[in-house]
Amino acid sequence: MLPTSHAPETFDYLIVGAGFAGCVLAERLASQLGLRVLLIDRRDHLGGNAYDCTDAAGVLVHRYGPHIFHTNAQKVVDYLSQFTRWRPYQHRVLADVQGQQLPMPINLTTINRLYGLSLDSAGAAAFLAARATALPELRSSRDVVVSQVGEELYRTFFEGYTRKQWGRDATELDKSVTARVPTRTDADDRYFQDRFQCMPLEGYTRMFERMVDHPNIRFLPDTDHAELGGTVRWRHLVYTGPVDEFFGYCFGPLPYRSLRFEHRTLDQEWLQPVAVVNYPAPEVPYTRITEYKHLTGQRHPRTSITHEYPTDQGDPYYPIPAPENAALYERYAQLAEQTPGVTFTGRLGTYRYYNMDQVVAQSLALFARIAQTAPAASGV
Ligand code: FAD
Repeated sequence: MLPTSHAPETFDYLIVGAGFAGCVLAERLASQLGLRVLLIDRRDHLGGNAYDCTDAAGVLVHRYGPHIFHTNAQKVVDYLSQFTRWRPYQHRVLADVQGQQLPMPINLTTINRLYGLSLDSAGAAAFLAARATALPELRSSRDVVVSQVGEELYRTFFEGYTRKQWGRDATELDKSVTARVPTRTDADDRYFQDRFQCMPLEGYTRMFERMVDHPNIRFLPDTDHAELGGTVRWRHLVYTGPVDEFFGYCFGPLPYRSLRFEHRTLDQEWLQPVAVVNYPAPEVPYTRITEYKHLTGQRHPRTSITHEYPTDQGDPYYPIPAPENAALYERYAQLAEQTPGVTFTGRLGTYRYYNMDQVVAQSLALFARIAQTAPAASGV
């Protein structure tokens, strides 16, 4: 509860948004500099999109879709390990195509099973090289894929999925969208190859709770920045919400792709062999199904799953990577630069798709900059 008296309570920092960006910064400011932090979120929980909770059946699920922690940054691992132990987990994804469920990213097994072949790695490399289309310049996300695996595999695995996921053709999307998806000619079927791949042992929310469990941090859920009014004062504002919303959409809204999550519990122990199965076919309305027990290691006689339906309406999840959107963001970024007393960070504050580890690194770097010039704690 916020104070309602005439004397507003004063904090050193107001942090808007209690996702990774906000929680990491709040924890650092409070524990390392002794500053008083008010952390607010308009949702009813900590953790932003990485929030997890136990559903009605008692299964630990991710409310905003599957979040798999992977990184090569030792510093990020060391930092988060203060607040959680880890469960080793290697993420695997299958794509449901032509009546089979095949490893994704495309690898040796994918090619052999799709075409009924028994190639070795060298054979798979030659197979792909023979199909790859040489292009003078890679302009779109379609070009990236076609130049690696050719038209047919592009159509089978990427075309429909990309259209559903982004609501536009891969030819209209920045090459960064598919540049992150590798193609392998060995049988490695791990989705990520980062050095460190794991899940927080007791879930993300438990980790966030430990991060903000500090006498200098006050967390207020169900609290929108726009509704704070004059009830509190702060010396500096860190805003991890949407930068365009902060400025009243003065240049127009930044385009985002959203998702509708359909969560269900089934009366069976397992549904699918891996945590995530993709559905690239255009006639299937969802893009993927997640089964959480694979991620969390939980044992339970029932299983909880989520279907993801991409949509233009709803919470802002994925900034749409297209040149005109980057140009629009640049106008907001310039306005943000000229706004004293406010720092914009996190994936919504900087209109960038970041993985969790990147957001942690971003907040740690921001904290290091603040610490260099930090005023003494206000003692309020
Ligand atoms: P968020 O988690 O979005 O937190 C921002 C918070 O700010 C939100 O809780 C919001 O309610 C709050 N807020 C916004 N405006 C206001 C306001 N005006 N007042 C009060 N509160 C406000 N990353 C990975 O590393 N691995 C994965 O497997 C992975 N899977 C993902 C799957 C999906 C479907 C999505 C959408 C993202 C995934 N990510 C994954 C990315 C990950 O979610 C982000 O890196 C991370 O959540 C970013 O943290 P953040 O704090 O910047 O933003």
